[in-house]
Amino acid sequence: MASVMQKLITPLASGPAEPPRNKVTIVGVGQVGMACAVSILLRELTDELALVDVVEDRLKGEMLDLQHGSLFLKTPKIVADKDYSVTANSRIVVVTAGVRQQEGESRLNLVQRNVNIFKHIIPQIVKYSPDCILVVVSNPVDVLTYVTWKLSGLPKHRVIGSGTNLDSARFRYIMAEKLGIHSSSFNGYILGEHGDSSVPVWSGANVAGVSLQKLNPDIGTDKDSENWKDAHKMVVDSAYEVIKLKGYTNWAIGLSVADLTETLVKNLNRVHPVSTMVKGMYGIGEEVYLSLPCVLNSSGVGSVVNMTLTDDEIGQLKKSADTLWGIQKDLKDL
Ligand code: NAD
Repeated sequence: MASVMQKLITPLASGPAEPPRNKVTIVGVGQVGMACAVSILLRELTDELALVDVVEDRLKGEMLDLQHGSLFLKTPKIVADKDYSVTANSRIVVVTAGVRQQEGESRLNLVQRNVNIFKHIIPQIVKYSPDCILVVVSNPVDVLTYVTWKLSGLPKHRVIGSGTNLDSARFRYIMAEKLGIHSSSFNGYILGEHGDSSVPVWSGANVAGVSLQKLNPDIGTDKDSENWKDAHKMVVDSAYEVIKLKGYTNWAIGLSVADLTETLVKNLNRVHPVSTMVKGMYGIGEEVYLSLPCVLNSSGVGSVVNMTLTDDEIGQLKKSADTLWGIQKDLKDL
C-alpha cells in the first residue's frame, strides 16, 4: 500500500540533493551571533544557515526557535551542532564566539582569552569549508582577525574583520542626526582600530560631495569652536554606553554584518570600512589588521581604496598599528 508521501509526490529529479550555494555559518550563538543570524535571514541572503556553539542546549533552542519561523523566511535549511561537520561547504563563516567585553573592560583586555578559543575554532572551520570567506566579529576584532588569518592559513583577502564598519555606521548616524539628514546621506569613514584608537577621517567627510572641512577648516580639531570632534568621542563611547545600559551590544553589529554578507554573497563590489592586512600601506611595516575602505566581492577583499589622508590622519593610523602590534607580538602558538 502506497504511503501518503508516495501518493502525493511523484519524484522527477534523481541523484543526490544539490549542495548549498550560499551557505552561511555563524559560530557563537550569543547576543551578537543571533542578531547576525536574524539579520541575514531577514535579508534573504542564504539558502542554508548553520549555527555552532559549545553550549548545546542554547544552540538547539536557538535552532528550533528559528526553524519555527520558517514560514516567514526564505531560507529552507537551518541547522546547528557543536560538531563542525554541520558547517561543511560554507561560503561565508561569521565568527562571533568568545568572551564578551565586561562593563568598563577595554577590548584589548579580552585578547588572550579569545585567542585560546580561536585555536580550537578556526582549524575546524577551514577543515570543512576550505574555500570560505571568514568574517571575524569577536573582540578585539583587529587582533583576532590577524589571529584567524594566521591559524587558518587562508589567503589574506579571504579573512576579514568587521572592523570599523560598525564605528563608521555609528559615526554616520550621529553626524546625520546633527545635520537633520539620513545616515546614508552623510558620507564619512572611521578607519584604523575598531575601538579606542579609531581614526575619524574628517578630511573626507561630506554631504552630497560638499566637504565639511572646506566649510570649517578646524573641523575635528581641538580648535573647532563647534566641537564636531565630540561626534567621534560619542562613537568611541557608544559601545561602553550601550553595554552599561543593556549589558551587551547586538542589533547594530548584527545589521552591519548582514550588510557585509550581502556584498560578499552578491559580488557587489561595494566599499566597506573593514579590517584587512595593511602591511605596506601608509608606511605600516608590521603584519597588522586595520580597517581601510575595502572593495568587497565574492572573493573577499578585492582591493583597497587609497584614501587621500592628511599627515595627521596617517600618523593616527600608524599609532593604531603600533598599539595592535604591541599586543600581537606577545601572542604565542600562532
Ligand atoms: P555572548 O557571551 O552573548 O556570546 C558568545 C557566544 O560564544 C556564547 O554563546 C558562547 O557559548 C560562545 N562560545 C564560547 N566559546 C566558544 C567556542 N569555543 N566555540 C563556539 N562557541 C563558543 O557574547 P556576545 O555579546 O554575543 O559577543 C560576542 C563577541 O562579539 C564578543 O567578543 C564581543 O566583544 C564581540 N562584539 C564585536 C563587535 C564588533 O563591532 N566587532 C560588536 C559587538 C560585540
